[in-house]
Amino acid sequence: MNDYSQIWQTALIEIQSLVSPANYSTWVKTTKIVREEEGIVFLGVPNEFTREWLFKKCHNSILRILRQLNERVRALEYVVMREDEQRSDEARKKAISTSTIAMPLQDFYINKEDNLNPRYTFDNFVIGPFNELAHAAAAMVVKNPGQVYNPLFVYGGTGRGKTHLIQAVGNKIKSLFPNKKVYYLTAERFGSDLFDALQTSKAQQFKEKYRKYDILIMDDVQFFSSKEKFQEELFHIFNTFHDTARQLVFSSDRHPNIIPDLEDRIRSRFNAGMIIDIAELDKESRMAIIRTKCGPHNITLTEEIIDYLATEIEDNIREIEGIVNIVAHQTIHKNKDLNLNDIKNILKNNAKPKKMLSSKEIVKTVCNFYNIDEDSIYNKTRKKEVVKPRQVIMYILREDFSLSFPSIGDKLGGRDHTTVIHSYEKIKEDIKSNSLLLQEITQLRTML
Ligand code: ADP
Ligand code: MG
Repeated sequence: MNDYSQIWQTALIEIQSLVSPANYSTWVKTTKIVREEEGIVFLGVPNEFTREWLFKKCHNSILRILRQLNERVRALEYVVMREDEQRSDEARKKAISTSTIAMPLQDFYINKEDNLNPRYTFDNFVIGPFNELAHAAAAMVVKNPGQVYNPLFVYGGTGRGKTHLIQAVGNKIKSLFPNKKVYYLTAERFGSDLFDALQTSKAQQFKEKYRKYDILIMDDVQFFSSKEKFQEELFHIFNTFHDTARQLVFSSDRHPNIIPDLEDRIRSRFNAGMIIDIAELDKESRMAIIRTKCGPHNITLTEEIIDYLATEIEDNIREIEGIVNIVAHQTIHKNKDLNLNDIKNILKNNAKPKKMLSSKEIVKTVCNFYNIDEDSIYNKTRKKEVVKPRQVIMYILREDFSLSFPSIGDKLGGRDHTTVIHSYEKIKEDIKSNSLLLQEITQLRTML
């Protein structure tokens, strides 16, 4: 997905047919794709209003159109471009800041052959007590692929660096052993490829494909939970790789023994190699990461500010990066170093109190996503375009927010808890086979 402008030009033609000419020239024409990362397309918009309008009115359509043009696309996010970035691509390339929005495209270039993102390396991987064992095991695997720790299984909470580490393994092996064929993919991608292969009677090709690789790296394998068909294919891959001493690397958000609905034979294969966790970040490590992340932005923060940030942002390197990006933007924008108060304001404005999200906010996000009226969720309508979003809301409230079935029923217009259970079960079942629905829910989760 390198030629963004081409893809966007094609998408624009389709979008043009969906909105009025006035809206098109006000809101749509002024946008462009600024980058893509792991299937997330970042659409550059000139200002907040445009972002708001596009998100409310066209988000789903644009996402659908992009997906049709490139099956890798999973999600769509918006970034507000600075003026110099809007003028021309040339100007954008020369932009002084190297922060997220202005990152040169090649930094986000994902190799089509192996899906690896070259930005994940050992060189920019900070090591601390929380990840040193995982790092050491990964380094061993790099030196002796297929010979020690096979499979290598890395697990830990979100934003702790699992993807970074396992991709760094792939990138490093590639450079040390140019003859070895490396392949990275998420378990979800594996599932949807398999699903497509089965639909089009290409199961054999699917199997063949994996025989080609020397190192297979699969991210987020907790996704295999209760997906029997996928587990079966994975089992065959295990055997092929094991018999020929080829390296497998996995990540998961939890230890394989607590991934629900996983066949014993899969669990025991995961357990046969090295299982290692990336633990919670300690404060020193958080501080080290903040310092490192400031580097590319050419900003230096005082120890007081670093200490403050490390205390406030507790357990997620992705969040640390996000905040450092904002700090860097504001520093450039204001043309002066920020003080502690500025930093406090940034944190206040960017706080994401996920656990405190009300069900109303969730309803709102889901309704925006599906372009339907919020009221319809609470009333009795059985229209198809409302039933599905309503079921998705119930599913998310149960699955991600652990609300009880009766309380979900109460919150959504006084529905009986058996209806809620039915809806929850239905979505849970549907996402096993409907990869589009699964993508929608994955995308929604990132928006909550
Ligand atoms: P996970 O897969 O565990 O959710 P990621 O690997 O996606 O986490 O990491 C989130 C972000 O933090 C990425 O941008 C990654 O480059 C960065 N990151 C993670 N671990 C480290 C580390 N040890 N040093 C520097 N950056 C890191
Ligand atoms: Mg990850």
